[in-house]
Amino acid sequence: MNHLIEVRDLVRLYPGVRAVDGISFRVERGQCFGLLGPNGAGKTTTLEVLEGIQTPTSGQVRYKGRPLDRDYRESIGIQFQATALQDFQTVNESLTMFRRLYRRTADRDELIGLCNLAEILNRDTRKLSGGQRQRLLLAIALVNDPELVFLDEPTTGLDPQARRNFWGLIEGVRRRGTTVILTTHYMEEAERLCDQIAIIDDGRIIAEGNPVALVREAFPARTIHLPESAWPSGVPLPSDAVLREGEMELFSDEVSARLAELERVGADLSELRIATPNLEDLFLKLTGHALRT
Ligand code: ATP
Repeated sequence: MNHLIEVRDLVRLYPGVRAVDGISFRVERGQCFGLLGPNGAGKTTTLEVLEGIQTPTSGQVRYKGRPLDRDYRESIGIQFQATALQDFQTVNESLTMFRRLYRRTADRDELIGLCNLAEILNRDTRKLSGGQRQRLLLAIALVNDPELVFLDEPTTGLDPQARRNFWGLIEGVRRRGTTVILTTHYMEEAERLCDQIAIIDDGRIIAEGNPVALVREAFPARTIHLPESAWPSGVPLPSDAVLREGEMELFSDEVSARLAELERVGADLSELRIATPNLEDLFLKLTGHALRT
């Protein structure tokens, strides 16, 4: 058995809401596993059950083959979507306070290096930028040197630069061998960081696998985008064309052959765009609605 955590037939009901509606998956040791889905899909609820914070309505979570127990709490770290930090504390004091809560702790200097905190150690936690605050919260999640760390939408609200920097830190955490389970609604984040993802919609997993492989299985290699108006009148549309918001999409493994075909029928190629299909396209294909709502 190489999996660290296993979720079986998980259901979590709230009054009038099936927040999690029968979810099963396994996370292997050392993996970065992503729960991807739009707002309200059930990602946080699933994570909270895995963290032992919420009790499932039915179903099971097993860690190393056993039900979650007190030792489990000591071997995981959690970065919540929102965490209140103590006022009038510096980053350094905040780290010290959290270190005191655990029997086992990560090496302090290594943690400061890993989360890039050296330059802000003496800064008041109320004065931190969004990215700096997330770095401190990551360090707090890792303070007990966990085997498994949960990151709930760790880059939501960060600007693109800070988001990319944070991805670098998560890659560093993985290099140490820590297993990561994260939620996100940024497909780019999932594509870059995750070995395995489960796409959740309405409390159910609608696709699971390696993000690159999932997209490759669902689509030819490239998408050709053309304005609908670029298509010559009187010529029938290709049978695989998808029309969306004034645009026409064609899928192709052989881009040059497809372009030659478009030229032959007299399509106006001046505004043509070629893209690589991604998880956003996959989500749209599976559900008929966009990932980010
Ligand atoms: P987001 O990306 O917005 O955080 P999510 O995918 O994490 O969304 P959840 O927060 O797990 O989704 O919510 C799933 C569903 O359960 C939503 O419809 C939400 O409104 C509902 N829900 C969550 N927590 C509660 C609660 N404590 N009581 C009632 N309904 C809840």
